[in-house]
Amino acid sequence: MSTFQELGLNEDLLHAITDLGFETPSDVQAKAIPILLEKDSDLVALAQTGTGKTAAFGFPMLQKIDISSRTTQGLILSPTRELCLQITNELKLYGKHCKGLNVTAIYGGASITDQARSVKRGAQIIVATPGRMKDMISRNMVDISKIEYAVLDEADEMLNMGFYDDITDILSHTPNDKSTWLFSATMPKEVARIARDFMHDPIEITVGNKNESTSQVSHEYYLVNARDRYQALKRLADANPDIFSVIFCRTKRDTQKVAENLIEDGYSAGALHGDLSQNQRDLVMKSFRNKQIQMLVATDVAARGIDVDDITHVINYQLPDEIETYTHRSGRTGRAGKTGVSMVIVSKSEVRKIKSIERIIKKEFEKKEIPDGMEICE
Ligand code: ADP
Ligand code: MG
Repeated sequence: MSTFQELGLNEDLLHAITDLGFETPSDVQAKAIPILLEKDSDLVALAQTGTGKTAAFGFPMLQKIDISSRTTQGLILSPTRELCLQITNELKLYGKHCKGLNVTAIYGGASITDQARSVKRGAQIIVATPGRMKDMISRNMVDISKIEYAVLDEADEMLNMGFYDDITDILSHTPNDKSTWLFSATMPKEVARIARDFMHDPIEITVGNKNESTSQVSHEYYLVNARDRYQALKRLADANPDIFSVIFCRTKRDTQKVAENLIEDGYSAGALHGDLSQNQRDLVMKSFRNKQIQMLVATDVAARGIDVDDITHVINYQLPDEIETYTHRSGRTGRAGKTGVSMVIVSKSEVRKIKSIERIIKKEFEKKEIPDGMEICE
C-alpha cells in the first residue's frame, strides 16, 4: 500500500521513522496523515486501541508546527498521567531530528511549578490531562490562546472519566479557528456531542470494524470458586513461566493486596493504582516497561491505554463493573499485530457476564480448566 514517504512527511520525520523501524503506515495513519497535512479541517478518527493513533496525529502536528518559534501551538489532551507521559515520550522519539522541539507533559501529582517552568521555556507542544491543564490555566501558568492544533486523544475514555466540563472549559481558552483532531476507539453519545458542539464540519474516518481490534487476542475463561481466585491466578502464572502480563482488579485495595501476595509468594509483580504516589507509579511503570517485573497488577483507571510492548496475557482477576471496560483491558495485549491471550477468572455468580462480553467483542470465549501448578510457596 502506501509508504510514509507517499504520505508527505518531511525528511526529519522520515529519518525518525527509519530509526524506529516502522515499515509501513498503519491504516489510521495512512488515512489521517495526508488529511491533517494538507487540510486545516477538523478530524474525527475512530480506530481501536493499538492501531497507531499517536503517530497519526503526532507526525502531522510535528510537521505543521513552527519549531523556530517558542509559542505553544499544539495541545494534546489525554485521560491519564501515564498516557500523557507515554505520548510525550513517543512525540520526542518521532521528533528527535526536529531541532529545537520542546514537548512538555502536564499532569497531576507532580510539581506544578516545575511544569510551569518547562512550559515557559518554550513548549511548542503540551500534552496534558484535563484536570491539571484547567488548574494551570486558572493560575495563568500557561497560555494556550495561540494554539493551532488541539487533539482530544482517547476521547471516549476522557468523557467516561467525567472530563466533559474540564475539556469544554479548556477549549474555551483556545482560538476559534484552530483545528481540532479527535481520536477515539468508540463513538458514544458524549463524543458525538463534543464533535457537534466544538468542531467545525469534521472529516470523519473510521478504521476497521469496530470490534476487530481484538482479533489478535484469544479469550479464555476459568470458572473457579470465588475464594480460590488467588490460587487460580498463581496456577496460571506457574503454567506460563514467560508470562508478561497486566492483571486487572476491581478496586485499589484488591490491586494492592494481590500484588503484595504475589511478591510474598515469590512472583515478579508490582501494583499500579491511584493511591500510590506519582513517584511510585512512575517507578512501577518503568520496571514493567523494562520487563523487570512480569506481572503488573492494576486498576482500570491506572492502566487505561498504556502501551507496553509484548504483553502476552491480560488477566481479569475480577471482571470489570462495566462490561465495556473489558475491551479496553484485553486491548493491552495483541498490539501492533502480535497475538495475545485475555483470561478471565470468573466465579459461578458472574459467569453469565461472559455471554454479554461475547456479544460486545463478537468473539467466543474458550472455557478452560485451571492448570495443575507447582505452587512456589505453599
Ligand atoms: P493507539 O493510540 O491506537 O492505541 P499507539 O499509538 O499507542 O496506538 O501505538 C501502538 C504501538 O504501535 C506503539 O508501540 C507504536 O510505537 C507502534 N506503532 C505505531 N505505528 C506503527 C507503524 N506504522 N509500524 C509499526 N509500529 C507502529
Ligand atoms: Mg493512544
